[in-house]
Amino acid sequence: MGKIDYFCDFLNINPMKTDQVRVRFAPSPTGPLHIGGVRTALYNLLFVRKLGGKMILRIEDTDRNRFVPGAEQYIVDSLGWCGIEFDESPEKDGPHAPYRQSDRSGIYQDHIQRLIESGHAYYAFDTEAELNEMRERAKEKGGQTFQYDQETRKTMQNSIALPEEQWKKYMESGMPYVVRIKTPENEHVVVNDLIRGEVVVSTSNLDDKVLFKSDGLPTYHLANVVDDYLMKITHVIRGEEWLPSAPLHVLLYCFFGWEDVMPQFAHLPLILKPDGNGKLSKRDGDRLGFPVFPTEWKDPQSGEVYSGYREAGYLPEAVINILAHLGWNPGTDQEIFSKDELIEQFSLERVGKHGSKFDPEKAKWFNHQYMLLKSDDELCRLMKPYLDEHGVSPPADYLGKVIQLVRERAFLIPDLWNASWFFFMRPKEYDTQVYQKIWQPGTTGWLNEFAADVEKLAEFNEDTFHTLVQDFTARTGIKMGQLMNPLRLLMVGSNQGPGITDIAVVLGKDEFLERIRVGLEDK
Ligand code: GLU
Repeated sequence: MGKIDYFCDFLNINPMKTDQVRVRFAPSPTGPLHIGGVRTALYNLLFVRKLGGKMILRIEDTDRNRFVPGAEQYIVDSLGWCGIEFDESPEKDGPHAPYRQSDRSGIYQDHIQRLIESGHAYYAFDTEAELNEMRERAKEKGGQTFQYDQETRKTMQNSIALPEEQWKKYMESGMPYVVRIKTPENEHVVVNDLIRGEVVVSTSNLDDKVLFKSDGLPTYHLANVVDDYLMKITHVIRGEEWLPSAPLHVLLYCFFGWEDVMPQFAHLPLILKPDGNGKLSKRDGDRLGFPVFPTEWKDPQSGEVYSGYREAGYLPEAVINILAHLGWNPGTDQEIFSKDELIEQFSLERVGKHGSKFDPEKAKWFNHQYMLLKSDDELCRLMKPYLDEHGVSPPADYLGKVIQLVRERAFLIPDLWNASWFFFMRPKEYDTQVYQKIWQPGTTGWLNEFAADVEKLAEFNEDTFHTLVQDFTARTGIKMGQLMNPLRLLMVGSNQGPGITDIAVVLGKDEFLERIRVGLEDK
């Protein structure tokens, strides 16, 4: 390995000053936030809350071509739903406001000027057509890709290759230009990553990225580094897709003379498709039948709707837990964590280097576990929108009894309703396949006889119902199933649901008999 010139070292956190730890989540409002982004925000949060530092939301919206209206609000709202809160953000002012990059353009102009003056950046006037021509030519030369770099810059339209008087004339005539970083020749950049260790890159492999665009706004790289510095960010925790940019960022820190306060980097592994074949993409979810966004997103341009965890009936605490496990390993068998437990136990040392496969079945299982932890009252509250939607408003004690019967069966919130709707309305139809399978020539007669016995019961409860069923089957000689299966069909409309005794007792004697009567009329 050659000489190391640009070095990003670990900044050990002073245990007395952990409250000075500052992290940021820096999304670009180019669309909805994928769950990979939510996981990045979550890991930042877990990391910083344990240390008592600050969590910043910075909106990186300098790429106006990719700006999507409504995306910033979506990001804020969906993170809020997940319980990921910020100490400083565009909505919550702090000492380094503004927190939206489009409101900070003057700052970047000053900084790009500094790099030009110190010789670390240069003006480039190449038009899109000229750049395309270079790309084509490189392709013809044996499939290479054109890089604007230490070699090629010598032959292009820029303030390094052109005589000073000429490029100054270009500037004066108002010719559009960009500013590019001047990558040093034959040197090495070291990025010390908390997850990946030391990553060394030769500057001859780096290109002269655009730092400042012809529209007067910075690119992501410049704005990101300048803001991390000005906002006193101590740890940059972000997705692996940014690792290739990290050497450039280290260079910028060094060029600005900020190497002593360079943040520590931690690049999180990818979240992979369930089969492990590549990154989980925004289209995978709806294609494979599970959401990849925290909340539903309607694309303002295409009108396309992408499903969200909230609308699919997940609890935010379950979503957080699912994401916590996608990359981090607690090192124990514990799977269910409260947010406080996650904060207590999370550590970057236990975040792996390799991608984690997203398992949609496991995601449902997690949600089920969190639903089991809810009290009956909380589940009743979660059920409310479904009751409203169907125009039913059962008394609280009735709803409480139903919830107790179905809570074990619910994996997602809508399952509460799907597993119990027949407690609130009569079946409108009866499953014909079930009917054909279970209905026998004697069934109608037995049910009429059974209903007459129920009618005579002074008390209608679990015990009396149970005894009656025993007596009835003994007397008539029919099997338990020959009575219970048709009864279930008349109560529920199918072969689903909890035990028939439970259904009968909750429905109550009158409704039970009425459903037999209505059902037999229909048969
Ligand atoms: N704006 C970048 C994004 O959209 C931020 C990357 C970073 O955290 O540095 O993900």
